[in-house]
Amino acid sequence: MNNLIKESLAKLKQKNISNPELDLRILLKYASKKNNEIFLSNLNIDNIDIVKFKSYLQKRINRQPIAKIIKNKPFWKNNFYVNNSVLDPRPETELIIEEVLNIYRDKNLKLKILDIGTGSGCIAISLAKEFKNASITAIDISKKALEVAEKNLKIHNCSNQIQLKLIDFKNINSKFDLIVSNPPYLTNDQFNNADPEVKNFEPKLALIGGDDGLKFYKEYSNTLQNLMNKKAYFVCEIGYNQRKDCEEIFKNSGLYLNNIVHDLQGIERILSFSKI
Ligand code: GLN
Repeated sequence: MNNLIKESLAKLKQKNISNPELDLRILLKYASKKNNEIFLSNLNIDNIDIVKFKSYLQKRINRQPIAKIIKNKPFWKNNFYVNNSVLDPRPETELIIEEVLNIYRDKNLKLKILDIGTGSGCIAISLAKEFKNASITAIDISKKALEVAEKNLKIHNCSNQIQLKLIDFKNINSKFDLIVSNPPYLTNDQFNNADPEVKNFEPKLALIGGDDGLKFYKEYSNTLQNLMNKKAYFVCEIGYNQRKDCEEIFKNSGLYLNNIVHDLQGIERILSFSKI
């Protein structure tokens, strides 16, 4: 193994980075002069732009997440552009897409969908690709996040299916067949104890759900049923240990808990509600 590679790996390990070797391989791939020709099996510096590699490595040593360094993150069936204004799409959030596919077996349905707090747009775009006849309103209160979503819409050719809006969901007054959301749900304490990758490089606005983390579910339980058609569904992500509280919060909301989906760690992660 080349010395630069050895030293780089040692530095990553020293910083307690959880997958040092994989991260190193990804940084090498993205610092390659011929991007498509370098595979993740590569641990060799031929065809690598060394200046670029060193700058990437330094960022990772400073605990910047890989996705924020290479400005790209895979989610469901596509790759998404990301920067510091949005949350990196997470694998557990893909379960929202899976749950929606479970609910609606007919992919030709002309669903009217609302995505609250769209961020990078990864949920809205993935749904648009699955349901080609769906029309989606994707909203956020962060202008900078919407700029990222806009970029992803262009990359994925979804501008005809998805309308982006800078608006709070409380000011929406049309009705939808499906509402999806991955709201901020961390408590202040959870945020303060989060990894530096999250705390220092992801938007606080997308992470903290008030003191108890439940702020948005409380707001949703008062509002969402007015935005839902008769047979509509609401599918959302929740934080660790929030299922009981959420069930309580939605008790008198006019929405009925339909399904609970566990993530790969066995954590109750996705709730789906129906209006009837
Ligand atoms: N799962 C994210 C984290 O723990 C939080 C995402 C969210 O608040 N919606 O970093």
